[in-house]
Amino acid sequence: MSDRPVSSLPHVLIVGSGFAGLNCAQALKSVLVRVTLVDRVNFHLFQPLLYEVATAALGVDEIAVTTRLLFRRQRNLAVHMLTIETIDIAARCARTTEGHTIQYDWLVMAPGTVTDYFGHREWATHAPGLKTVEDAIAMRRRVLLGFEQAESELDRERRRAHLTFVIVGGGATGVELAGAIGEMKNFTLRHEFRAIDPADARILLLDAGERILPNFAPELSGRARGDLERLGVDVRTRTLVTDVGPDYIVAGDARIATSCVLWGAGTRGAPVLASLGLPLDRQGRVRVGADGTAQGHGEIFVVGDGAHFHDAASDAPLPGVAQVAIQMGRHAARCIADDLAGRPRQPFRYLDRGKLAVIGRGRAVCEIGPFKLAGLPAWLIWAFVHIMFLVGFRNRIVAMVEWARTYFFQHRGGRFIIGDR
Ligand SMILES: Cc1cc2nc3c(=O)[nH]c(=O)nc-3n(C[C@H](O)[C@H](O)[C@H](O)COP(=O)(O)OP(=O)(O)OC[C@H]3O[C@@H](n4cnc5c(N)ncnc54)[C@H](O)[C@@H]3O)c2cc1C
Repeated sequence: MSDRPVSSLPHVLIVGSGFAGLNCAQALKSVLVRVTLVDRVNFHLFQPLLYEVATAALGVDEIAVTTRLLFRRQRNLAVHMLTIETIDIAARCARTTEGHTIQYDWLVMAPGTVTDYFGHREWATHAPGLKTVEDAIAMRRRVLLGFEQAESELDRERRRAHLTFVIVGGGATGVELAGAIGEMKNFTLRHEFRAIDPADARILLLDAGERILPNFAPELSGRARGDLERLGVDVRTRTLVTDVGPDYIVAGDARIATSCVLWGAGTRGAPVLASLGLPLDRQGRVRVGADGTAQGHGEIFVVGDGAHFHDAASDAPLPGVAQVAIQMGRHAARCIADDLAGRPRQPFRYLDRGKLAVIGRGRAVCEIGPFKLAGLPAWLIWAFVHIMFLVGFRNRIVAMVEWARTYFFQHRGGRFIIGDR
């Protein structure tokens, strides 16, 4: 570090403290810049484990860490809890909902995505998505209320509707939710009710595509489907959802009475990305070039889920996964260091470390290059990887203990119904 006061250094503004923003900020620790990290929440959230909060296996504080705590020793970085509303590219500044204006020399946009209802915003009220802590708590409330209401309901049809859980979207989120609710009804809740048998609950996993987990090899998709069916999940592919109401869902040619629809079907770029006025793809993500910057704006990096980076190897946009976000965030920091040193920037190259999806206790699928695994070995890899990447020492220890309790005793200690009914 030089003796220059931090305030006179060039300024990097990072929007979003998810995987991309956080890794960019950490990688700028020894670079001669002043960094401002802005997020509308005051924590970094480990989204891959949100479904565990939604299904009562983990608490919020096991999958989130306050940003200030994480950066307390990084002297060139300031954290602000603000919401960025618009970016003024010409004036090189960001304006916040709270009325602040923040100038920048480099802008790193890492605001991720929001849940997408394919043009049916009104479905959001009846079918919560899973992107935020609030979403996870709302889902947990719906799932647990289903069992509670069924226990007190005398009408057979209404009781059946309370015990019908419909999950839309057969990607990793939908599969994880279906598996966890399956475990809950078959094992966790087994001895706790008197009027109902939780095992009678119906779980439907709906997807419009040909198969669930479409980004995995077909044999792993098939294995995941078999594992879910063994847990009592009714998996329906090629089934398009056409309507969602307060106590029903219309899927294919069936109208299903249910008081719990969970949405894991789609995402689109965070709304703030549109304020850049730059070319977006159909999912509202900003198209970026080889170095991860927006077209014609070398000072604006868009990283993580909100970026559309065309991957030459697969001839498709990179997927919205944590590894892409982590690597893009670090790459943006390297480019900024290169600019300061007068070196040419390197193009971004994604190193694919494989993919994982968990189905239930001791059940997962894992694909690393040509290697394909399923069952317990895949679950052990899944648990190891998630422990490794979970931010915060305490979180790793607590998550490990909770998973061991869930594994051996089917324990789900966070079954609290919080908020309005
Ligand atoms: C339920 C679920 C399960 C997943 N499972 C996996 C998995 O198993 N493996 C895997 O690799 N990936 C998984 N993912 C995907 C992975 O979590 C994402 O790819 C990753 O979080 C993207 O990181 P990001 O930094 O781009 O965005 P995010 O992590 O979404 O972070 C964006 C941040 O920006 C903030 N923000 C947004 N707008 C504004 C604004 N206007 N002003 C200020 N702040 C703003 C948000 O508050 C948020 O903190 C999962 C995602 C979900 C939702």
